[in-house]
Amino acid sequence: MLVSLSEILKSEGGRITFEDEVCIGQAGQTEDIISFPEPVRVWGKIVNEGEVFRLTASVSGGLLVRCGRCAREFRREIAFDFEETLLPKEQADEREGDDVVVFTGSELMLDEMVTANILLAMPIRYLCSEGCRGLCAECGKDLNEGGCGCRHEKIDPRLAVLSKLNDK
Ligand SMILES: [Zn+2]
Ligand SMILES: [Zn+2]
Repeated sequence: MLVSLSEILKSEGGRITFEDEVCIGQAGQTEDIISFPEPVRVWGKIVNEGEVFRLTASVSGGLLVRCGRCAREFRREIAFDFEETLLPKEQADEREGDDVVVFTGSELMLDEMVTANILLAMPIRYLCSEGCRGLCAECGKDLNEGGCGCRHEKIDPRLAVLSKLNDK
């Protein structure tokens, strides 16, 4: 998504709005994120605040993820807002080290910024449900589909330590 800043580049207080779709595809892939099956919707505004440009945006879309316990694939909807401070390259030297996005010219490519913010907004791991019972550590069966008959299955982890000691 390319946004042109030329309208507000030289006018403090000026603002532009944008709305478009961004294809993330496999770009955001991590261990738990499988893919973004369709583009995410992104909309927001950029305001010329004098020294910097302030971007505020909203994102909504869906992605396919893998459950951290049972490895099942499922769809998760996302909707969140983010903010970025944009700085023209000519002024970037003075603000080195700050958490700003530096841009050159009068156009801004938002795709990378959107992908980065989606990854930041993600939880450390996904669960298909809070009560997901995961896989049996012994036989690998999905315990959401019923018990597997393994003996240790219902043993409290603290008791499991004791039972291992008793086995010796
Ligand atoms: Zn699960
Ligand atoms: Zn089992």
